[in-house]
Amino acid sequence: MTENVTWQPHKIGKPERSRRNRQNPCVLWFTGLSGSGKSTISDALEVRLHDMGFLSYLLDGDNVRHGLNKDLGFSDADRVENIRRIAEVSKLFVDAGLIVLTAFISPFRADRDAARAIMGVGEFVEIHLDVPIEVCESRDPKGLYRKARAGEIRNFTGIDSPYEPPVAPELRIDTSRHDPQACVQQIVDYLSAHGYLVQG
Ligand code: ADP
Repeated sequence: MTENVTWQPHKIGKPERSRRNRQNPCVLWFTGLSGSGKSTISDALEVRLHDMGFLSYLLDGDNVRHGLNKDLGFSDADRVENIRRIAEVSKLFVDAGLIVLTAFISPFRADRDAARAIMGVGEFVEIHLDVPIEVCESRDPKGLYRKARAGEIRNFTGIDSPYEPPVAPELRIDTSRHDPQACVQQIVDYLSAHGYLVQG
């Protein structure tokens, strides 16, 4: 299908955009159960990065499913395709020089590893929001656990669909132990220490 398609090199690329934006672009790949805090933390982190003068873009699960991925459901095959498209979009946005935040359950290890594999070295920062399911269920911000327990939602991660935790994420944060601002600070500290944010 791609045999007559050639990748076009351009004069302005990731290095030029990175220098202009004073940041090393990457994807901050949040993963965790529903209610673990992916939307809350990524949203708060983006505010913080914006205030610090960095350029970011947040791809949020529900929002992407309203548009790009509205043809996909929650079967295993559709979850795989959901994550594949998000990874490809993230790759383009990283090429655009942005710090990309993705907030998807992304329950399968193989899919996250595939997303990591298409990014450059150091461009994939996996952040596992590692929260006991009892806490996520008690938060139940969208009432989804209640519906899943009542059998109104099928294939719900953690109930009747598996969640495979990352083996070696760059960051692991338990949002039941730290308030959102403390979680954001941990991530900013990581990004600063690893040279993603160029100060001054
Ligand atoms: P997800 O996007 O992973 O489904 P959400 O961010 O939508 O999770 O929901 C997490 C819920 O937990 C929110 O209602 C949020 O206010 C609450 N919460 C309580 N403490 C924290 C914390 N430290 N970090 C993130 N969320 C928290």
